[in-house]
Amino acid sequence: MLPALTGYSKDSLTELMAEWGEPKFRATQLLDWIWKKKAASFEDMTNLPAALREKLTETHCLHALESTTVQGSADTTRKFLFKLGDGRYVESVLIPANPALYGEKSDRRTLCVSSQVGCAYGCKFCASGLAGFSRNLDAAEIAGQVLMAERLSGERVDNLVFMGMGEPFANFDKLMAAIEIITADWGLHLGARHLTISTSGLVPQIKRLADHPQQIRLAISLHGATDDVRDLIMPVNKKWKTADLFEALDYWNSRKKQHLTLEYILIENVNDDLEQARILATHAKRLTAKVNLIPYNTVEGLEWVRPSETRCRAFRDILKNAGVSATLRLEKGHDIDAACGQLRLKQETEEGIIEAPVKS
Ligand code: SAH
Ligand code: SF4
Repeated sequence: MLPALTGYSKDSLTELMAEWGEPKFRATQLLDWIWKKKAASFEDMTNLPAALREKLTETHCLHALESTTVQGSADTTRKFLFKLGDGRYVESVLIPANPALYGEKSDRRTLCVSSQVGCAYGCKFCASGLAGFSRNLDAAEIAGQVLMAERLSGERVDNLVFMGMGEPFANFDKLMAAIEIITADWGLHLGARHLTISTSGLVPQIKRLADHPQQIRLAISLHGATDDVRDLIMPVNKKWKTADLFEALDYWNSRKKQHLTLEYILIENVNDDLEQARILATHAKRLTAKVNLIPYNTVEGLEWVRPSETRCRAFRDILKNAGVSATLRLEKGHDIDAACGQLRLKQETEEGIIEAPVKS
């Protein structure tokens, strides 16, 4: 498998061109073809010498991803399934005119990006964790999802959320390398404020991002306000208890101006007790965090149930009455969003790459 040119930073590409005895401006020309002109092949890069194009073709591929399926249409949510160089699959979801869920401006196109194939964290409600962890994505495969989504849709992506398959903080270095490409003026030039990383609660990496100079946003998949509830559905809570997590979030607040988002999936008889809402309200208030309530999306093979709308609203109202900014997404059209991981699971199961998962 040849390395993808889309994984190079400006520095590393400049170094490669110097090694090849090329003039300095080659790196700039190449980056321009890749990220601005969105070239489909090395052949398209017409202002490069033929010998260089040939050398590039022999030693590199241009893109790390190949598009296989696109579900949905222009004014709805679109789901892209991408084939990786080693035959594995990842997916990205393009959501049009998303309401301002993560503090960004509304009416923007948001792309939900994957960071790993599978996930090792095994949350009990999640399709991505069902078949276990396969591998980390590299920078070309992460940043490439944005490039491919823009090429396929013909639209500019305004916001990114790292909420697709995988735990982004378990792939920290590759994630940050991809973010450099995504935010750089020579790359996709998307402002860090338009990027949201979602984590199930990896405490050391929360602190590392808090110390990072870029103003990247952070969302925490909380899904339980107390240890007993989080322990039931999120194995990560065995390692970092809610007290450790909240301490890391205080540290975040001491370093950052961006408000945190707490995500909370509502699952019937698991975490939808109204006492959880009261405790959640206390934490959210202290942290000045926004809460996104997401009724559980059915995952094939799992038996969890979404609570009634009445219960979801009652849960939200407790937060609102406590003065917490809380949103509840009840629309059915969003089912495809949170179902990230399912398309890849189906494809890889059909191809016999992974075995059909069973509930543990
Ligand atoms: N690993 C990271 C990012 C990927 S998951 C994290 O856990 O935050 C992105 C979001 O989708 C998380 O909030 C996750 O809890 C949520 N999610 C997973 N399965 C879901 C389901 N069945 N219904 C609704 N949301 C789900
Ligand atoms: Fe992994 Fe996030 Fe799914 Fe948990 S919710 S299994 S951390 S992708």
